[in-house]
Order: sequence, then structure tokens, then C-alpha cells
Amino acid sequence: MLSVVPTSLTVRAPAKVNLHLGVGDLRPDGFHELVTVFQALSLHDDVTLTPSDALTVRVTGEGVRDVPTDATNLAARAVAALAERYGRDPYLQIDIAKGIPVAGGMAGGSADAAAALLGAATLWGLDVGRDELDEVAATLGSDVPFSLHGHTALGTGRGERLIPALARGEFHWTLALAREGLSTPAVYRELDRLREVGDPPRAGSPDALLAAVASGDPHRLAPLLANDLQAAALSLQPGLRRTLRAGIEAGALAGIVSGSGPTCAFLCASADDAVDVGTELAGAGVCRTVRVASGPVPGATVVP
Ligand code: ATP
Repeated sequence: MLSVVPTSLTVRAPAKVNLHLGVGDLRPDGFHELVTVFQALSLHDDVTLTPSDALTVRVTGEGVRDVPTDATNLAARAVAALAERYGRDPYLQIDIAKGIPVAGGMAGGSADAAAALLGAATLWGLDVGRDELDEVAATLGSDVPFSLHGHTALGTGRGERLIPALARGEFHWTLALAREGLSTPAVYRELDRLREVGDPPRAGSPDALLAAVASGDPHRLAPLLANDLQAAALSLQPGLRRTLRAGIEAGALAGIVSGSGPTCAFLCASADDAVDVGTELAGAGVCRTVRVASGPVPGATVVP
């Protein structure tokens, strides 16, 4: 009798940093219109899928205690959504090896969802095009389509409508990971509050920044990095000001809160500079730990 040997499949998905994040005013439907430029970085989660008799999740690595292992895990939701759409049983064991900080503004959950989508579609041999996968991705979260695509892209709508952006060369980053995470909805609420009582800075148009990314020159890109959520993240975690200052003093070209924070991303002139900045930051005691990364890198990819 023939028996089917369950085969595992691992998909690697990258973290992101928002080089530009312009947040529109709160809409009556509770959402904010975004204009953002994403870049995928060489910091990743690995998601391994194995056929099983139930949909289960195990998590190891960075920040495990804050990641749900029930049906609310974004990777499990991704598998369930794909199974429902294509009439499959969603029975997979999902093993997530986290390298992306949890609740760090680097789209870790979205990376896992994107990896799970691509992995399940591949494992089940689904005849599904990128457009269809994008559609399912957008229902799971506004960063999930970018986690599938990676590289550098302009995102509009809630960030889920993507146009690939030209990027020349490689940009070098040092990431300062914080001790405590920040909840993305709480940061948006804080921005709404700050805008009611004052006039925090607005990122404006990303055109000059897109030209700088295309030029490949980090010195040109550095002064153009902009994030409307930064004022709100700093208001909720004032200690991040010290982290940002310390990165600049250590020789970074620019520092910015990544997305909704609290990870601080420092653009550096070279890979060597990024290591030097990381060493100084680690010694300064202004963050939990540091990582060095480069971008752009591809989106979710099956590991051979
Ligand atoms: P973003 O940058 O997309 O706003 P983030 O990087 O700040 O998100 P995540 O790491 O995606 O934040 O986690 C946000 C919350 O989502 C976590 O606190 C956790 O409870 C929940 N979550 C669900 N599934 C996952 C997952 N697979 N990995 C991480 N967090 C998850």
C-alpha cells in the first residue's frame, strides 16, 4: 500500500521599514489613508508548514511570549483564509522561528501571514496567481501584500495598494530593538490626539525620497526619511528620543522610528558603519538589543 509521506516546506519572509509614512486624517470609517514607501530588510522570520491532523502553531525565537499560538495568530489566519477560499482542509502544523521583533513596527505578524500564504499555496499545489494571493493577503492586514512582494514599494490606501519602486544598490541599517512593544492602534490613536491639540509634522510628498532611493545614495536619502507616526510613538515612549540621539551621535546618517515603533532604524553610509553604530548603541544602554540589516531584499520566498 502506498503511504503519503508528509513533507515540510519553509518560507522566509522579511521585516520592513517605512522610509516614508504619511498618515492622512482619521476617516469616518475609522481608517487613515496612508502614503508610504516600504523597504524590505534582511531580518526575517522562517515559517515551516507540515501537513498534520489539525491547524496548530508553535513559535520560537524573538519575543515568543507575546505571540499567540491559537487561531488568532496571523499565520494561522492566513492558512484558514486560503483553505476556505480554495476548499481545502486547513490542517497544517505551523512552526514560526521569529527573528523580527514582536510589536516592533517591522510587520512581523504580516511577514508570518505572507509566508504562510505562499507556503500553503505551494504545499497544496494551488493554481493561484500573485493577484489572487494579494487579494487574500489584503484581507489579513494592510502590510501583508508588501511582505509577499518585498523590495521597495510605494503603498497607498491603507498601505495594501502597491507600486514597485526603483532602488539602486543596497542600503545599510542598524536597528535598535526596544524593551517594550507598542500597539499599532494605540499609536494611531495618539497621533489623532496630538493632531487635535496641536500640529505635529507631516511627511508631505514622497517624490524626492523616491528619487533618492533610485539614486542609491544614502546621503541623499538620509534627510528625506519621514514618519508621521514618530511623534506619537515618542509621546508614548519618550525614552526613544535618547535612542534616536544616540544613533546619530554614533555616526548614523539618520534615525527614524520604524512604522508605529518602537524599533528605531538608523540609515548608515556602509555595512561597516552599520556595525560600528550597532556596537555603540549596544554599549550606550538605550535599547534592548541591536541588529544590522540591509535592504532591499525580496518578499516571502520558499527556502530551497
Ligand atoms: P506592524 O508593523 O505591521 O504594525 P508590528 O510589527 O508592530 O506590526 P507585530 O509583530 O506584527 O507588530 O505584532 C502585533 C501583534 O500581533 C502582537 O502583539 C501579537 O499579539 C499579534 N500577532 C498575531 N500573530 C502574530 C505573529 N505571527 N507574529 C507576531 N505577532 C503576532
